[in-house]
Amino acid sequence: MLEPIEFLEEELRNVEQSLKETLRYEYGHSISAQFYEECDLRLTALRDQFNQTIRASASPNRKYILGALTELHRLSILITRIERSHLGEFSWAFASALQNISAGPCTEQSRHSDNPEPLFFISAEGGISSYGLHPEQRLYTAQKRQIFNIVFPRTLRNHVLFHPILAHEIGHAAMSVSRNAKELEVNVLNVLIENSVIADDDAIENWLDRENQSASERDRQTIRRGWAEEFFCDLFGLMLIGPSFISAHLTLLDAIDDPDEQDFVSTHPPSAARYLLVAEAASNLGWSFDSSPCLSAWFKQHNEKCASVAAKFKFFDTEKIREAISNLRDFLSRYPNSLFPEKELERVGTLIQQLNFGAPPNDEIRFNNEGKLVPSEDVDFRTILFAGWVAWNVGLTYQDYEFSDLNRLCSLAIIQNTALREWKSHT
Ligand SMILES: [Zn+2]
Repeated sequence: MLEPIEFLEEELRNVEQSLKETLRYEYGHSISAQFYEECDLRLTALRDQFNQTIRASASPNRKYILGALTELHRLSILITRIERSHLGEFSWAFASALQNISAGPCTEQSRHSDNPEPLFFISAEGGISSYGLHPEQRLYTAQKRQIFNIVFPRTLRNHVLFHPILAHEIGHAAMSVSRNAKELEVNVLNVLIENSVIADDDAIENWLDRENQSASERDRQTIRRGWAEEFFCDLFGLMLIGPSFISAHLTLLDAIDDPDEQDFVSTHPPSAARYLLVAEAASNLGWSFDSSPCLSAWFKQHNEKCASVAAKFKFFDTEKIREAISNLRDFLSRYPNSLFPEKELERVGTLIQQLNFGAPPNDEIRFNNEGKLVPSEDVDFRTILFAGWVAWNVGLTYQDYEFSDLNRLCSLAIIQNTALREWKSHT
């Protein structure tokens, strides 16, 4: 047998070894080293604690040993998940672009003066319900950066047009950051649910009665907090990643729930209530969908789908949605890349044309009279995603495309785009 202290020492060595093994893989441009450094910092602090407090003691306190082992266990789970998210399991370009728009709103107040940006890694699990976020609390002896793990269904790894849904998970990450939590809860979440069916216990009770549902006290508490945060994250995802969120969100939720046969679950709101909120929010964001026939046809199609859902799923006051949007816009605008840039909608028509020519939608390549390349502004990856959805729904003149073809072309465009952005930032 091994004494608990010996087992702890053995495990310290094992986790150290598995951290070294993660270096076998690439996780994306420059990000591997950053994951390694953060995990190494945490492990070194544990090793120091072991040497100074536990091993140095004549009769080591059992509580310290257990505490250190629990922390080591948590770190080992994190390292294993990171290892499973290496390149090839997910589009590195999408992960990099998502990190770029998400880091600001998810940066925690730090003891370090520079408030280092968090790291995100994306790993796959089985099944459509695997979408989720493993947030991170300040639980380690030493910790400099937050590491968020976003989980998605492995079958959809090449379907970049569904990836906008990951912006919902960024909402959970932003809400878990202590320096934002209060502001987002008071100014957005609480504003949104005011006068809604989840405004308070009485409102929830009334809704349950109307739906002939019963719920335990515990379920009611889960509904109040859990549903509110899910709705908040839908709003956050929409405003962060833009209108492609509407198509991805509606498709996935409509596929897994029949609005006429909704089973009540306390952890997540009815799907129909979620996509109705997103559609109404999109109508109130001031995005100019009527600027081109393609965009207005796409938006009309989505609105017609939502209008076919029973009115009982309209949970929120339009005025409160507007107020919550306005406050969330103020919050996201503080970060240079985070709010979806509405101006990008003007480029969607050009990108759809490229898709119809079988080209990745990455803006036109233009030459001046002397045959020199005219530099164009980078296309935001969020516009590429939106162009893919509009093309699929209403904009295709070339009819032989499968959905997977459009995903492939959009994915290629995002790779070109991100590679160019990273190349420019290093030259
Ligand atoms: Zn969620």
